[in-house]
Amino acid sequence: MAATTTHGTNMTAPTRRVASRCPVVKSGVLGVAIKETSWNSLKSLSCVSSREPLMPSLSASRGSSVKGVTRAMSAAAAKPTLPGLPVDLRGKRAFIAGVADDNGYGWAISKSLAAAGAEILVGTWVPALNIFETSLRRGKFDETRVLPDGSLMEIAKVYPLDAVYDNPAEVPEDVKTNKRYSGSSKWTVQEVAESIKEDFGTIDILVHSLANGPEVHKPLLETSRNGYLAAVSASSYSFISLLKHFLPIMNPEGATISLTYIASEKIIPGYGGGMSSAKSALESDTRVLAFESGRKHNVRVNTISAGPLRSRAAKAIGFIDMMIDYSLVNAPLQKELSAEEVGNVAAFLCSPLASAITGSVIYVDNGLNSMGVGVDSPTFAGLDIPKQK
Ligand code: NAD
Repeated sequence: MAATTTHGTNMTAPTRRVASRCPVVKSGVLGVAIKETSWNSLKSLSCVSSREPLMPSLSASRGSSVKGVTRAMSAAAAKPTLPGLPVDLRGKRAFIAGVADDNGYGWAISKSLAAAGAEILVGTWVPALNIFETSLRRGKFDETRVLPDGSLMEIAKVYPLDAVYDNPAEVPEDVKTNKRYSGSSKWTVQEVAESIKEDFGTIDILVHSLANGPEVHKPLLETSRNGYLAAVSASSYSFISLLKHFLPIMNPEGATISLTYIASEKIIPGYGGGMSSAKSALESDTRVLAFESGRKHNVRVNTISAGPLRSRAAKAIGFIDMMIDYSLVNAPLQKELSAEEVGNVAAFLCSPLASAITGSVIYVDNGLNSMGVGVDSPTFAGLDIPKQK
Protein backbone atom coordinates (compact mmCIF):
# COMPACT_ATOMS: atom_id res chain seq x y z
CA MET A 1 0.00 0.00 0.00
CA ALA A 2 1.74 3.15 -1.18
CA ALA A 3 1.23 6.24 0.88
CA THR A 4 0.54 9.51 -0.79
CA THR A 5 2.04 12.01 1.58
CA THR A 6 5.63 12.45 2.60
CA HIS A 7 5.26 14.68 5.59
CA GLY A 8 1.98 13.86 7.20
CA THR A 9 -1.39 15.29 6.42
CA ASN A 10 -3.67 17.89 7.81
CA MET A 11 -6.98 16.23 8.47
CA THR A 12 -8.78 19.14 10.05
CA ALA A 13 -12.43 18.84 9.17
CA PRO A 14 -14.26 22.10 9.56
CA THR A 15 -17.84 22.01 10.73
CA ARG A 16 -20.40 24.50 9.62
CA ARG A 17 -22.76 25.90 12.23
CA VAL A 18 -26.30 26.10 10.98
CA ALA A 19 -27.99 27.25 14.14
CA SER A 20 -26.30 29.94 16.18
CA ARG A 21 -26.63 28.25 19.58
CA CYS A 22 -26.39 24.73 20.94
CA PRO A 23 -27.70 23.65 24.31
CA VAL A 24 -24.85 23.15 26.78
CA VAL A 25 -24.11 19.47 27.32
CA LYS A 26 -23.76 18.62 31.00
CA SER A 27 -20.65 16.56 31.65
CA GLY A 28 -20.39 13.68 34.07
CA VAL A 29 -17.61 13.35 36.61
CA LEU A 30 -15.27 12.40 33.81
CA GLY A 31 -16.48 15.32 31.75
CA VAL A 32 -17.24 13.13 28.75
CA ALA A 33 -19.80 10.49 27.88
CA ILE A 34 -19.35 7.25 29.76
CA LYS A 35 -20.15 4.68 27.06
CA GLU A 36 -21.50 4.28 23.57
CA THR A 37 -25.08 4.69 24.63
CA SER A 38 -24.05 7.79 26.55
CA TRP A 39 -22.39 9.23 23.46
CA ASN A 40 -25.62 8.72 21.59
CA SER A 41 -27.80 10.28 24.22
CA LEU A 42 -25.36 13.18 24.48
CA LYS A 43 -25.48 13.56 20.71
CA SER A 44 -29.24 13.81 20.78
CA LEU A 45 -29.06 16.23 23.71
CA SER A 46 -26.60 18.47 21.97
CA CYS A 47 -26.47 20.00 18.56
CA VAL A 48 -25.82 17.29 16.02
CA SER A 49 -28.52 18.58 13.77
CA SER A 50 -27.30 22.13 14.02
CA ARG A 51 -23.92 21.32 12.51
CA GLU A 52 -23.21 19.91 9.12
CA PRO A 53 -19.90 18.28 8.43
CA LEU A 54 -18.04 19.68 5.48
CA MET A 55 -15.66 17.53 3.43
CA PRO A 56 -12.43 17.16 5.41
CA SER A 57 -9.70 19.24 3.86
CA LEU A 58 -6.62 17.31 2.91
CA SER A 59 -3.42 19.22 2.61
CA ALA A 60 0.11 18.04 3.06
CA SER A 61 1.41 21.55 3.56
CA ARG A 62 2.74 22.34 6.99
CA GLY A 63 1.36 25.88 6.86
CA SER A 64 -2.23 24.80 6.47
CA SER A 65 -2.01 22.21 9.22
CA VAL A 66 -0.71 24.74 11.70
CA LYS A 67 -3.43 27.17 10.65
CA GLY A 68 -6.04 24.48 11.33
CA VAL A 69 -4.49 23.88 14.72
CA THR A 70 -4.55 27.54 15.64
CA ARG A 71 -8.25 27.62 14.81
CA ALA A 72 -8.93 24.52 16.93
CA MET A 73 -6.91 25.89 19.85
CA SER A 74 -8.56 29.28 19.83
CA ALA A 75 -12.01 27.70 19.64
CA ALA A 76 -11.13 25.60 22.70
CA ALA A 77 -9.69 28.59 24.54
CA ALA A 78 -12.90 30.54 23.96
CA LYS A 79 -15.01 27.95 25.78
CA PRO A 80 -16.38 29.02 29.16
CA THR A 81 -15.20 27.19 32.26
CA LEU A 82 -17.13 23.96 32.85
CA PRO A 83 -18.90 23.52 36.18
CA GLY A 84 -18.32 20.53 38.45
CA LEU A 85 -15.27 18.30 38.14
CA PRO A 86 -14.65 17.97 34.43
CA VAL A 87 -11.85 16.32 32.53
CA ASP A 88 -10.49 19.47 30.98
CA LEU A 89 -7.75 19.01 28.40
CA ARG A 90 -8.20 22.34 26.67
CA GLY A 91 -4.84 23.76 25.61
CA LYS A 92 -3.24 20.29 25.64
CA ARG A 93 -1.85 18.58 22.55
CA ALA A 94 -1.90 14.79 22.19
CA PHE A 95 -0.08 12.41 19.88
CA ILE A 96 -1.83 9.05 19.54
CA ALA A 97 0.31 6.35 17.92
CA GLY A 98 -1.62 3.44 16.41
CA VAL A 99 -4.72 4.83 14.70
CA ALA A 100 -5.55 3.36 11.29
CA ASP A 101 -9.35 3.05 11.36
CA ASP A 102 -12.32 3.90 13.56
CA ASN A 103 -12.66 0.51 15.27
CA GLY A 104 -9.77 0.37 17.70
CA TYR A 105 -8.83 1.79 21.07
CA GLY A 106 -6.59 4.46 19.49
CA TRP A 107 -9.55 6.03 17.69
CA ALA A 108 -11.75 5.94 20.80
CA ILE A 109 -8.99 7.47 22.93
CA SER A 110 -8.47 10.20 20.33
CA LYS A 111 -12.18 10.98 20.47
CA SER A 112 -12.31 11.16 24.25
CA LEU A 113 -9.22 13.37 24.37
CA ALA A 114 -10.77 15.59 21.67
CA ALA A 115 -14.08 15.69 23.56
CA ALA A 116 -12.16 16.94 26.60
CA GLY A 117 -10.65 19.71 24.47
CA ALA A 118 -7.23 18.34 23.48
CA GLU A 119 -5.74 18.91 20.06
CA ILE A 120 -5.22 15.60 18.25
CA LEU A 121 -2.24 14.41 16.20
CA VAL A 122 -2.10 10.76 15.16
CA GLY A 123 0.59 8.34 14.04
CA THR A 124 -0.54 5.77 11.47
CA TRP A 125 1.37 2.63 10.54
CA VAL A 126 2.91 3.27 7.13
CA PRO A 127 1.33 0.30 5.32
CA ALA A 128 -2.12 1.42 6.55
CA LEU A 129 -1.62 5.14 5.88
CA ASN A 130 -3.01 5.38 2.38
CA ILE A 131 -6.30 3.67 3.14
CA PHE A 132 -6.73 5.57 6.42
CA GLU A 133 -6.18 8.96 4.79
CA THR A 134 -8.42 8.09 1.86
CA SER A 135 -11.20 6.94 4.19
CA LEU A 136 -10.91 10.10 6.29
CA ARG A 137 -10.93 12.31 3.20
CA ARG A 138 -13.98 10.56 1.76
CA GLY A 139 -15.90 11.01 4.99
CA LYS A 140 -16.03 7.28 5.77
CA PHE A 141 -15.42 8.01 9.45
CA ASP A 142 -17.68 11.05 9.72
CA GLU A 143 -20.34 9.17 11.61
CA THR A 144 -17.89 7.94 14.24
CA ARG A 145 -16.08 11.28 14.41
CA VAL A 146 -19.05 12.94 16.10
CA LEU A 147 -18.23 14.26 19.57
CA PRO A 148 -20.73 14.78 22.39
CA ASP A 149 -21.23 18.44 21.45
CA GLY A 150 -22.13 17.43 17.89
CA SER A 151 -18.93 18.65 16.28
CA LEU A 152 -16.60 16.29 14.43
CA MET A 153 -13.28 15.26 15.94
CA GLU A 154 -10.56 17.19 14.18
CA ILE A 155 -7.22 15.53 13.52
CA ALA A 156 -4.71 18.32 13.15
CA LYS A 157 -2.21 16.10 11.40
CA VAL A 158 -1.62 12.46 10.48
CA TYR A 159 1.99 11.31 10.66
CA PRO A 160 3.21 8.13 8.97
CA LEU A 161 4.88 5.96 11.61
CA ASP A 162 6.55 2.60 11.97
CA ALA A 163 7.33 2.21 15.64
CA VAL A 164 9.60 -0.77 15.01
CA TYR A 165 12.32 1.55 13.68
CA ASP A 166 13.96 4.17 15.87
CA ASN A 167 15.87 6.07 13.18
CA PRO A 168 16.63 5.87 9.44
CA ALA A 169 19.94 4.04 9.96
CA GLU A 170 17.99 1.06 11.35
CA VAL A 171 15.68 0.64 8.37
CA PRO A 172 16.69 -2.34 6.22
CA GLU A 173 17.03 -1.81 2.48
CA ASP A 174 14.12 -4.11 1.60
CA VAL A 175 11.77 -2.05 3.79
CA LYS A 176 13.03 1.28 2.37
CA THR A 177 12.36 0.10 -1.16
CA ASN A 178 9.10 -1.73 -0.36
CA LYS A 179 6.34 -0.02 -2.31
CA ARG A 180 4.20 0.29 0.82
CA TYR A 181 6.94 2.45 2.40
CA SER A 182 8.66 4.19 -0.48
CA GLY A 183 5.84 6.74 -0.97
CA SER A 184 6.29 8.05 2.59
CA SER A 185 9.23 9.52 4.43
CA LYS A 186 10.27 10.51 7.94
CA TRP A 187 8.30 7.72 9.59
CA THR A 188 10.84 6.35 12.09
CA VAL A 189 10.14 7.22 15.73
CA GLN A 190 12.96 9.76 15.92
CA GLU A 191 11.86 11.47 12.70
CA VAL A 192 8.20 11.67 13.74
CA ALA A 193 9.23 13.31 17.04
CA GLU A 194 11.40 15.77 15.07
CA SER A 195 8.58 16.55 12.62
CA ILE A 196 6.12 17.18 15.46
CA LYS A 197 8.66 19.44 17.16
CA GLU A 198 9.08 21.37 13.92
CA ASP A 199 5.33 21.57 13.26
CA PHE A 200 3.94 22.13 16.74
CA GLY A 201 6.81 22.56 19.23
CA THR A 202 5.62 20.41 22.11
CA ILE A 203 3.02 17.87 23.16
CA ASP A 204 1.39 17.13 26.52
CA ILE A 205 -0.03 13.64 26.00
CA LEU A 206 1.47 10.58 24.34
CA VAL A 207 -0.63 7.48 23.66
CA HIS A 208 0.80 4.13 22.55
CA SER A 209 -2.06 2.10 21.10
CA LEU A 210 -0.27 -0.39 18.91
CA ALA A 211 0.85 -3.98 18.98
CA ASN A 212 1.96 -6.60 16.52
CA GLY A 213 3.01 -10.23 16.87
CA PRO A 214 3.65 -12.03 13.59
CA GLU A 215 3.35 -15.44 15.28
CA VAL A 216 0.42 -14.62 17.57
CA HIS A 217 -1.38 -17.76 16.41
CA LYS A 218 1.41 -20.03 17.65
CA PRO A 219 1.65 -21.34 21.21
CA LEU A 220 4.66 -19.96 23.07
CA LEU A 221 6.44 -23.32 22.85
CA GLU A 222 6.23 -23.17 19.06
CA THR A 223 7.20 -19.51 18.71
CA SER A 224 10.46 -18.80 16.90
CA ARG A 225 13.12 -16.51 18.34
CA ASN A 226 12.43 -14.02 15.54
CA GLY A 227 8.69 -14.14 16.10
CA TYR A 228 9.10 -13.57 19.84
CA LEU A 229 11.54 -10.70 19.39
CA ALA A 230 9.30 -9.12 16.72
CA ALA A 231 6.34 -9.18 19.15
CA VAL A 232 8.39 -7.53 21.89
CA SER A 233 9.90 -5.02 19.44
CA ALA A 234 6.55 -3.89 18.00
CA SER A 235 4.46 -4.15 21.16
CA SER A 236 6.73 -3.14 24.05
CA TYR A 237 10.08 -1.73 22.98
CA SER A 238 8.12 0.62 20.68
CA PHE A 239 6.75 2.28 23.84
CA ILE A 240 10.24 2.77 25.28
CA SER A 241 11.36 4.20 21.95
CA LEU A 242 8.40 6.57 21.75
CA LEU A 243 9.06 7.80 25.27
CA LYS A 244 12.78 8.20 24.65
CA HIS A 245 12.18 10.36 21.58
CA PHE A 246 9.10 12.26 22.71
CA LEU A 247 9.97 13.07 26.34
CA PRO A 248 12.26 15.92 25.23
CA ILE A 249 9.28 17.59 23.53
CA MET A 250 6.77 16.83 26.29
CA ASN A 251 5.68 19.62 28.57
CA PRO A 252 6.12 19.04 32.33
CA GLU A 253 3.03 17.49 33.96
CA GLY A 254 2.42 15.59 30.74
CA ALA A 255 0.99 12.08 30.66
CA THR A 256 1.53 8.92 28.65
CA ILE A 257 -0.69 5.88 28.24
CA SER A 258 -0.26 2.47 26.67
CA LEU A 259 -2.70 -0.42 26.24
CA THR A 260 -2.09 -3.81 27.78
CA TYR A 261 -4.02 -7.05 28.16
CA ILE A 262 -4.67 -9.49 31.01
CA ALA A 263 -2.65 -12.18 29.15
CA SER A 264 0.39 -10.47 30.68
CA GLU A 265 -0.41 -11.99 34.09
CA LYS A 266 -2.91 -14.83 33.53
CA ILE A 267 -2.92 -17.63 30.97
CA ILE A 268 -5.01 -16.82 27.90
CA PRO A 269 -4.64 -19.71 25.44
CA GLY A 270 -4.59 -18.38 21.87
CA TYR A 271 -2.73 -15.15 22.67
CA GLY A 272 0.58 -16.58 21.55
CA GLY A 273 3.73 -15.76 19.65
CA GLY A 274 5.25 -13.98 22.64
CA MET A 275 2.42 -11.42 22.80
CA SER A 276 1.74 -12.37 26.43
CA SER A 277 5.45 -11.80 27.17
CA ALA A 278 5.36 -8.48 25.32
CA LYS A 279 2.44 -7.28 27.47
CA SER A 280 4.24 -8.38 30.65
CA ALA A 281 7.26 -6.38 29.54
CA LEU A 282 5.05 -3.38 28.78
CA GLU A 283 3.57 -3.47 32.30
CA SER A 284 6.94 -3.83 33.98
CA ASP A 285 8.36 -1.06 31.81
CA THR A 286 5.40 1.15 32.81
CA ARG A 287 6.68 1.08 36.41
CA VAL A 288 10.35 1.69 35.60
CA LEU A 289 9.55 4.35 33.00
CA ALA A 290 7.19 6.06 35.45
CA PHE A 291 10.13 6.47 37.80
CA GLU A 292 12.58 7.66 35.18
CA SER A 293 10.12 9.96 33.36
CA GLY A 294 8.72 11.30 36.62
CA ARG A 295 12.12 12.18 38.01
CA LYS A 296 13.63 13.56 34.82
CA HIS A 297 10.66 15.15 33.05
CA ASN A 298 7.73 15.31 35.48
CA VAL A 299 5.73 13.15 33.07
CA ARG A 300 3.39 10.34 34.21
CA VAL A 301 3.34 6.82 32.71
CA ASN A 302 0.35 4.48 33.02
CA THR A 303 -1.09 1.55 31.12
CA ILE A 304 -4.71 0.52 30.67
CA SER A 305 -5.43 -3.21 30.81
CA ALA A 306 -8.40 -3.28 28.48
CA GLY A 307 -11.03 -5.94 28.03
CA PRO A 308 -11.78 -7.55 24.67
CA LEU A 309 -12.79 -5.31 21.77
CA ARG A 310 -13.57 -6.33 18.18
CA SER A 311 -10.79 -4.19 16.66
CA ARG A 312 -9.04 -4.96 13.39
CA ALA A 313 -5.97 -6.30 15.24
CA ALA A 314 -8.08 -8.42 17.61
CA LYS A 315 -10.11 -9.89 14.76
CA ALA A 316 -6.87 -10.94 13.08
CA ILE A 317 -5.95 -12.97 16.16
CA GLY A 318 -9.09 -15.00 15.53
CA PHE A 319 -10.80 -15.63 18.88
CA ILE A 320 -12.06 -12.19 19.84
CA ASP A 321 -15.74 -13.17 19.71
CA MET A 322 -15.06 -16.01 22.16
CA MET A 323 -13.30 -13.60 24.52
CA ILE A 324 -16.20 -11.15 24.37
CA ASP A 325 -18.68 -13.97 25.05
CA TYR A 326 -16.51 -15.27 27.89
CA SER A 327 -16.45 -11.83 29.49
CA LEU A 328 -20.21 -11.46 29.13
CA VAL A 329 -20.88 -14.60 31.14
CA ASN A 330 -18.00 -14.40 33.61
CA ALA A 331 -17.22 -10.74 34.41
CA PRO A 332 -18.79 -8.96 37.38
CA LEU A 333 -20.40 -6.50 34.92
CA GLN A 334 -22.33 -8.41 32.25
CA LYS A 335 -22.16 -6.04 29.31
CA GLU A 336 -20.00 -5.72 26.24
CA LEU A 337 -17.12 -3.30 26.76
CA SER A 338 -17.19 -0.29 24.46
CA ALA A 339 -14.04 1.37 23.16
CA GLU A 340 -15.39 4.67 24.53
CA GLU A 341 -15.23 3.33 28.09
CA VAL A 342 -11.49 2.83 27.60
CA GLY A 343 -11.17 6.20 25.82
CA ASN A 344 -12.82 8.00 28.71
CA VAL A 345 -10.53 6.44 31.30
CA ALA A 346 -7.55 7.38 29.13
CA ALA A 347 -8.79 10.99 29.05
CA PHE A 348 -9.13 10.98 32.84
CA LEU A 349 -5.65 9.48 33.28
CA CYS A 350 -4.16 12.14 30.99
CA SER A 351 -5.92 14.95 32.85
CA PRO A 352 -4.80 16.89 35.93
CA LEU A 353 -7.46 14.95 37.91
CA ALA A 354 -5.07 11.96 37.77
CA SER A 355 -2.00 13.99 38.72
CA ALA A 356 -0.92 11.49 41.40
CA ILE A 357 -1.39 8.34 39.33
CA THR A 358 1.74 7.00 37.68
CA GLY A 359 3.35 3.58 37.20
CA SER A 360 -0.09 1.95 37.37
CA VAL A 361 -1.94 -0.73 35.46
CA ILE A 362 -5.56 0.42 35.34
CA TYR A 363 -8.12 -2.27 34.49
CA VAL A 364 -10.97 -1.27 32.20
CA ASP A 365 -12.50 -4.66 31.55
CA ASN A 366 -15.88 -4.86 33.33
CA GLY A 367 -13.95 -6.36 36.27
CA LEU A 368 -13.00 -9.61 34.52
CA ASN A 369 -9.46 -9.40 35.93
CA SER A 370 -10.84 -9.88 39.45
CA MET A 371 -12.32 -13.30 38.77
CA GLY A 372 -10.47 -16.35 40.03
CA VAL A 373 -12.68 -18.85 38.21
CA GLY A 374 -14.89 -18.95 35.15
CA VAL A 375 -18.37 -19.08 36.64
CA ASP A 376 -19.78 -20.59 33.44
CA SER A 377 -17.91 -23.82 34.16
CA PRO A 378 -20.23 -26.85 34.50
CA THR A 379 -18.46 -27.43 37.83
CA PHE A 380 -20.50 -24.56 39.28
CA ALA A 381 -23.81 -25.72 37.82
CA GLY A 382 -25.15 -26.37 41.32
CA LEU A 383 -24.21 -22.93 42.65
CA ASP A 384 -26.67 -20.07 42.71
CA ILE A 385 -24.58 -17.60 40.72
CA PRO A 386 -26.27 -14.20 40.34
CA LYS A 387 -26.86 -12.84 36.85
CA GLN A 388 -27.04 -9.15 35.99
CA LYS A 389 -30.59 -8.09 35.17
P1 NAD B 1 -6.08 -1.70 16.30
O1 NAD B 1 -5.96 -2.56 15.09
O2 NAD B 1 -7.08 -0.60 16.26
O3 NAD B 1 -4.70 -1.03 16.70
C1 NAD B 1 -3.44 -1.59 16.47
C2 NAD B 1 -2.68 -0.55 15.67
O4 NAD B 1 -1.30 -0.85 15.67
C3 NAD B 1 -3.14 -0.51 14.21
O5 NAD B 1 -3.54 0.80 13.88
C4 NAD B 1 -1.87 -0.89 13.44
O6 NAD B 1 -1.79 -0.24 12.20
C5 NAD B 1 -0.81 -0.40 14.43
N1 NAD B 1 0.52 -0.93 14.23
C6 NAD B 1 0.91 -2.24 14.14
N2 NAD B 1 2.25 -2.30 14.00
C7 NAD B 1 2.71 -1.02 14.02
C8 NAD B 1 4.00 -0.44 13.91
N3 NAD B 1 5.09 -1.20 13.73
N4 NAD B 1 4.11 0.90 13.95
C9 NAD B 1 3.01 1.68 14.12
N5 NAD B 1 1.77 1.19 14.23
C10 NAD B 1 1.62 -0.16 14.18
O7 NAD B 1 -6.36 -2.70 17.50
P2 NAD B 1 -6.56 -2.47 19.06
O8 NAD B 1 -7.06 -3.79 19.55
O9 NAD B 1 -7.35 -1.27 19.35
O10 NAD B 1 -5.08 -2.32 19.59
C11 NAD B 1 -4.61 -1.16 20.27
C12 NAD B 1 -3.91 -1.59 21.55
O11 NAD B 1 -4.89 -2.13 22.43
C13 NAD B 1 -2.86 -2.68 21.35
O12 NAD B 1 -1.76 -2.44 22.21
C14 NAD B 1 -3.59 -3.93 21.82
O13 NAD B 1 -2.73 -4.96 22.25
C15 NAD B 1 -4.38 -3.33 22.97
N6 NAD B 1 -5.48 -4.17 23.48
C16 NAD B 1 -6.46 -4.59 22.65
C17 NAD B 1 -7.49 -5.40 23.15
C18 NAD B 1 -8.60 -5.89 22.25
O14 NAD B 1 -9.34 -6.81 22.63
N7 NAD B 1 -8.79 -5.31 21.07
C19 NAD B 1 -7.51 -5.74 24.50
C20 NAD B 1 -6.49 -5.27 25.34
C21 NAD B 1 -5.48 -4.49 24.81
